[in-house]
Amino acid sequence: MEIVKMLVPQSKYAIKCPYEMTPEFIIIHNTANDASAMNEISYMIGNNNKVSFHCAIDDYRIVQGVPFNRNTWNATDGGNGEGNRKGISLEICYSKSGGERFKEAERLTAEYTAYLLKQYGWGIDKVKKHSDFYPQKGCPHRTLELGWDRFLNMVKSYMEDKPIDNNIESGSDEPVRTYQNGSTSENVYADTNCTIKIGSLNPRETCDCFGIFNDRAMVRYIVTGTSNYKIGFCKWLGGVK
Ligand SMILES: [Zn+2]
Repeated sequence: MEIVKMLVPQSKYAIKCPYEMTPEFIIIHNTANDASAMNEISYMIGNNNKVSFHCAIDDYRIVQGVPFNRNTWNATDGGNGEGNRKGISLEICYSKSGGERFKEAERLTAEYTAYLLKQYGWGIDKVKKHSDFYPQKGCPHRTLELGWDRFLNMVKSYMEDKPIDNNIESGSDEPVRTYQNGSTSENVYADTNCTIKIGSLNPRETCDCFGIFNDRAMVRYIVTGTSNYKIGFCKWLGGVK
């Protein structure tokens, strides 16, 4: 299981996760989108909306954006809602179009959910869905369409007979590194294919770096003249310290 932590900076706790939390259960969501887990987390951290979730999971990895001892605005049940204040929120990616990569993301979510249940010493009754707290939204839409009991059975199978991959890889405890830009401006892109430019780093600018993915440096930087963070990818790897 590959878990990457790209945690929200403390300066954004007031917006994204203002309350301390002792988790009591897990809430399953579908993103209703077709973006990867890294893109979902980077977008969630980057904007200033009062919307947040702990992890996004795609067909390759689990990306955590908020620590489990902070609350997230995930359940649409208000400032003191049980879902918003006590749940670990997991977003399954690629639910808009569905297909194989969604199924694989769902499978990885089931495995990770079983892993968390074991860690907390919880039973299957601790697995909730967004619609338990806010039925109007119909989330997790595609998981419900394919069958909620089917998903719970997948989780159960990892708790009982299928072994859980406890071998946590890639960056689970990797400290956030520094990116020191060189003497020229460096473009920052939304994706590792570098097709969508979202900003740039000034010469010699330093910022946080989450590591290297697909040969690109993932950076978190402050947008000039604001207190907003953006996360994206740079081509030049020489800046990773
Ligand atoms: Zn949801």
